[in-house]
Amino acid sequence: MAPIRDVLAAGREADWINPHKKPFAEVLAEGGITADMVKDASDRLARFAPLIALLFPETAEKGGIIESPLREVPKLQARFAEKYGAAVPGRLLLKMDSHLKVSGSVKARGGIYEVLKHAEDLALQGGILSGYEDDYRKLASPKARTFFSRHKIQVGSTGNLGMSIGIMGAALGFDAVVHMSADAKQWKKDLLRQRGATVKEYAGDYGEAVKQGRALSESDPMSYFVDDENSRTLFLGYAVAGERLTGQLTALGVTVDEAHPLFVHVPCGVGGAPGGIGFGLKLQYGDNVHVFFEEPVQSPCMLLGLATGLKEKICVQDAGLSGKTAADGLAVGRPSALVSGLADGFLSGEFTVDDSRLDPYLRDLYGSEGIFIEPSACAAFRGALALCSSAAGEAYCQKEGLTDKLASSAHVLWATGGSMVPEAVRAEYLNS
Ligand SMILES: *Cc1c(COP(=O)(O)O)cnc(C)c1O
Repeated sequence: MAPIRDVLAAGREADWINPHKKPFAEVLAEGGITADMVKDASDRLARFAPLIALLFPETAEKGGIIESPLREVPKLQARFAEKYGAAVPGRLLLKMDSHLKVSGSVKARGGIYEVLKHAEDLALQGGILSGYEDDYRKLASPKARTFFSRHKIQVGSTGNLGMSIGIMGAALGFDAVVHMSADAKQWKKDLLRQRGATVKEYAGDYGEAVKQGRALSESDPMSYFVDDENSRTLFLGYAVAGERLTGQLTALGVTVDEAHPLFVHVPCGVGGAPGGIGFGLKLQYGDNVHVFFEEPVQSPCMLLGLATGLKEKICVQDAGLSGKTAADGLAVGRPSALVSGLADGFLSGEFTVDDSRLDPYLRDLYGSEGIFIEPSACAAFRGALALCSSAAGEAYCQKEGLTDKLASSAHVLWATGGSMVPEAVRAEYLNS
């Protein structure tokens, strides 16, 4: 077998099992992130729920809690079997963060959470809120908006994080500035400007947009920078997904225990979203949940970092890759330092995906289940298919003693974005 680094450098698809994975209890014992921190994030989202319901009436039905459906997708499962000859055993489920309210992607978890956390900190310091028990709907008052308008929130983004920060920041009255990489889709920039955020565009990649945004923010005492490459706050917002998914699985009658393993596939860019979600699920299910990330063959930054052990010290350009991909949400050259450190201990493995598979996957889902998600989100499909049909997947199940349990397993494809894609752009993906 070719060394993993050669496979990556050649731009070929890689199936990689993490040799450093350890019992989750050991990862937790290292103490970087704790269950209490995730609980604190969950409590914060609950405090803000009445305000969210007020600002975004589409969330009122769920009391201002922004959560997406979990849906069983048997027709997609049948299509996988007939088209790819890869039967995914057990139950196949789609976690539809593609349809999260407010900003239509997984970034509505971490991104919105970080804006709310910052708003809470400022409002408590500024006397707008008297304490955690206060009525957070006060934050929609003219007085609060005037207060927030003196503050700036900045972020570098390939698109979706900018949308979450920009939409929520602007809704609270912040001066929101989004620094966008060249990969970012035009419609995302247009939508943000329409919502009142400022969009700055850069010819370079995501790393460049982040660098510029950070430098501008640091020189301005009234500015706060959302640091996608390192933010613990973002991570904790994502991690709340663990308890939420647990409730949904229970409601669908899906058991997760030693006899019923859960496999979760999450597309990975810088790592915050899949890392936080994976960690949150590990807190719930420990070693009975198996978390896999998926990345495009030209920007497998997390896999490169983990497989070489260099983590955030290596970028895909160092391996001779372009970093360019149709999966715009995953076009990231260097992994998060925070997440590469944690994922090294809990990640089961990675499957990379060639861009040419993404639009066909997108049409597989739309054609079978009538659900539209964006190309980046479809990267997860390759993971579920490869786990059940590749030598690496088979070896993993053997090593973990899962082979006999696959018939009673469940597989979650984390659909990370898509509901805000405009009709004309959708038509292009569906008809290309
Ligand atoms: C951002 C994003 C991801 C990955 O999240 P990271 O935190 O960058 O790893 C996956 N899918 C979509 C659609 C995204 O926008």
